[in-house]
Amino acid sequence: MNRLLIRNGILLDPAQNIEGKRDLYIEEGIVKQVAEEITQVPEGTEVMDAAGCWVMPGFIDLHVHFRDPGLTYKECIETGSKSAAAGGVTTVCTMPNTKPITDSVEIVEYVKTEAAKAPYTHVLPIAAVTMGQKGTDIVDLPALKEAGICAISEDGRSVMNAKVMKEAMKQCAQLGIPVFDHCEDENLAGGCINDGEVSKKLGLPGVSRDAENAMTAREILLAESTGAQLHICHVSTKESAEIIRVAKAHGSKVTAEVGPHHFALSDEDILREPHSKYKMNPPLRTPEDVEAMKQALADGTLDAIATDHAPHGAEEKTADLMKSMNGIIGMETSWAISKKELVDTGVLTPLQLVEKMSTNPAKILGINKGTLAEGCCADICIADPNEEYVVEDKFYSKANNCPFIGWKLKGRIKTTILSGRIVYKDNIII
Ligand SMILES: [Zn+2]
Ligand SMILES: [Zn+2]
Repeated sequence: MNRLLIRNGILLDPAQNIEGKRDLYIEEGIVKQVAEEITQVPEGTEVMDAAGCWVMPGFIDLHVHFRDPGLTYKECIETGSKSAAAGGVTTVCTMPNTKPITDSVEIVEYVKTEAAKAPYTHVLPIAAVTMGQKGTDIVDLPALKEAGICAISEDGRSVMNAKVMKEAMKQCAQLGIPVFDHCEDENLAGGCINDGEVSKKLGLPGVSRDAENAMTAREILLAESTGAQLHICHVSTKESAEIIRVAKAHGSKVTAEVGPHHFALSDEDILREPHSKYKMNPPLRTPEDVEAMKQALADGTLDAIATDHAPHGAEEKTADLMKSMNGIIGMETSWAISKKELVDTGVLTPLQLVEKMSTNPAKILGINKGTLAEGCCADICIADPNEEYVVEDKFYSKANNCPFIGWKLKGRIKTTILSGRIVYKDNIII
């Protein structure tokens, strides 16, 4: 029998309202006992000392791109899963803009099969909203639900036809499938960095804020009229955050996520160093938007932190901002960057950060995770909040398109445990 005792750590578990020293005893992948001190355990139990470390429910990343099937030169499910484990991420939701698009039971089954071969994180596939993400024919939602999708999303774009989107939302409301929404009106889109002072100074075409703002409003209204469970992906503008804030105040059940890059970086960084490592969609916005993201996290407008982990090949992320592809990798740095920008600056408490990375994502997915209460799955992240280091150009991801290389951080993931099994320890995948 697989038995593990984690001793002397500081348990951070918002669902149980615990922030203090606790021992955890785990048996066959399940948390069996949580107590201030556990002295009696069965013979043969592995004992791990977590003194000085934070013990947290493993992180749940609602938004990642594992590029598998079809684009595995960027990432595959195995390397993506290892990258997750190295970041303390024990559940990921994989976006469907693969090749072919994840729009059928067959592709969902493929993702699940590959994920089973790489047991470093739990992989929950997201299906597209429309066949081939072409925006016209809605996928077979009952069959895909049966196949085990956790949500649908057209990520990379919006379903431009409001009638099609409304019908998809209506079906999702009936079937209980969450809708994860990349909000971008393509008629207002285009450009390579945020439209504003920096794009003027650099002479680069700007991405309109209106593209995100207008679609955020439309989707919230459609969700209201259909009863769909709507989750807004990668919020980046202060207006979009405000629309969500107002909707929530009026009783909307909408939820929303933000990527670490949208509160850690701004378009001022591009002015300083015009490089494609700062190119993503939505783009880095202004310092004022960065402050608005922090405020929205603090007041609960933004429920979750999700990375939008988007690996690319080196030749796709050259210095050329115009030609380069959008996106950065994020899982291996997301907690430490979030701690630096949010906890160390007093925006969130350590417990609130766990809420944004574990508790709330689990609630959005409606899964029995995101807590280490007795009887729950032993998906655990153990981190040293005081270890200082510099982010190296060395990742478990196949890609290295990360704007945080060279950053000095305080707080390091030490151990990741998946269903009671140690999958990552001291920089090594096990
Ligand atoms: Zn997106
Ligand atoms: Zn994405």
